Amino acid sequence: MRISVIGCGYLGAVHAACMAKLGHDVVGIDVDETKIKDLAGAKAPFYEPGLEELLAEVQTTGRLTFSTELSAAEGSHVHFICVGTPQKKGENAADLSYVNAALHGLVPYLSPGDLVVGKSTVPVGTATRLAEVVEESEPAAHLLWNPEFLREGHAVADTLSPDRLVYGIEGGSEEHPAVQKLDEVYAASIQAGTPRLVTDLPTAELVKTAANSFLATKISFINAMAELCDAVGADVTLLADAIGMDNRIGRRFLNAGIGFGGGCLPKDIRAFMARAGELGADQALTFLREVDAINMRRRSRVVELTRELCDGSLLGKRITVLGAAFKPESDDVRDSPALSVAAQLQLQGAVVTVTDPEALANAARRFPELHYEHVTESALTRANAVLLLTEWQEYRDLDPYEAAALVSTCKILDGRNVLDPSKWRAAGWTYRGLGRP
Ligand code: NAD
Repeated sequence: MRISVIGCGYLGAVHAACMAKLGHDVVGIDVDETKIKDLAGAKAPFYEPGLEELLAEVQTTGRLTFSTELSAAEGSHVHFICVGTPQKKGENAADLSYVNAALHGLVPYLSPGDLVVGKSTVPVGTATRLAEVVEESEPAAHLLWNPEFLREGHAVADTLSPDRLVYGIEGGSEEHPAVQKLDEVYAASIQAGTPRLVTDLPTAELVKTAANSFLATKISFINAMAELCDAVGADVTLLADAIGMDNRIGRRFLNAGIGFGGGCLPKDIRAFMARAGELGADQALTFLREVDAINMRRRSRVVELTRELCDGSLLGKRITVLGAAFKPESDDVRDSPALSVAAQLQLQGAVVTVTDPEALANAARRFPELHYEHVTESALTRANAVLLLTEWQEYRDLDPYEAAALVSTCKILDGRNVLDPSKWRAAGWTYRGLGRP
């Protein structure tokens, strides 16, 4: 199958490489020349485990090319829309200008029978509007919405072996010829037993925002429990273990800490609330306002706890922040809780040093006023307090005795509740977790 992938960011670059791996002829298209130059040279423009190896592997087959011109989509039979849908500046709603530009740019190159397949996360109702644009320009082409559920840090595996495939198509019929054609694209996954659901367009759009809202709610629920645990001296990690043993609840996504961030959950729940408001259904989602508020409160809580750890004043205190990415195994710093905390501490007079195995270049672009160190040992040297804010394995594995020899004062705040408090206390550290005594 000849495929075009429009938008080669965290989602699209991985999607393009994986489609080529599955045997398709793929052209990846992006307006960002640097990204396209990197990708054409089999260099991943961001850190995603396995992506660079995959790019190198498929490059030798000749099945993956890149372009900055939408005209390169001509001749492909399936066109995936993977451009960004960030939060609008000063508003909760999603900015659809990139999706609109990509679709309007693409339609002149469509041929009869082509599929336009949206993967970007969009407010419900967008796909129906875009289907009309396709229909007006090329009545024999079809638009589907095929939301993406990959997790950064696991994106290659998630794309090659997704846990489900959702196809939204007008009318929601399995018999639609576009469904058979998209099945050919995903034949390997379908043969491997991946469940595939065919829905109407609004349902497919809602599946993605509902899933993200549920995950965000689960995280904020356990963080609310952490607030209560803090108030009574209980331990939220044991609480999560115990309630998580009920398989109706489940233990995953029940880790209390500094909360969620990244390029998806925060903006997706806000866009969902904004869209519900436009639809006159805002009451249905008022709980998400609380989910968002609990999440943002975590960041202030970490700042306050750090002040407590520093004997009541942050002024002039040397604080080392371990982690800048919004999650481990990624260099993505969009709405990163770790960086947001680091910046707040700096504003309040602390001297903040941030380290991260992969995300420092992105972090420095966003927060040039912070100090960055590549080597963990250098970052720890002479610290008055250490904050573990992104749970990279190397920070989980830190030796408290070796770290103690580097810092000025042995004080650690475990913002992800991943360290063993007894081990750190035994090595002479003052240990604080979140929602733990
Ligand atoms: P991103 O910002 O990393 O990538 C978007 C890319 O689109 C950029 O490279 C940008 O240059 C390009 N672009 C913008 N306008 C274009 C145009 N007119 N033509 C061609 N390229 C254009 O964003 P992302 O994280 O890859 O997310 C993309 C979409 O996928 C969003 O809607 C997001 O919510 C959704 N999504 C992302 C993830 C994830 O983990 N990153 C997971 C699921 C869904």
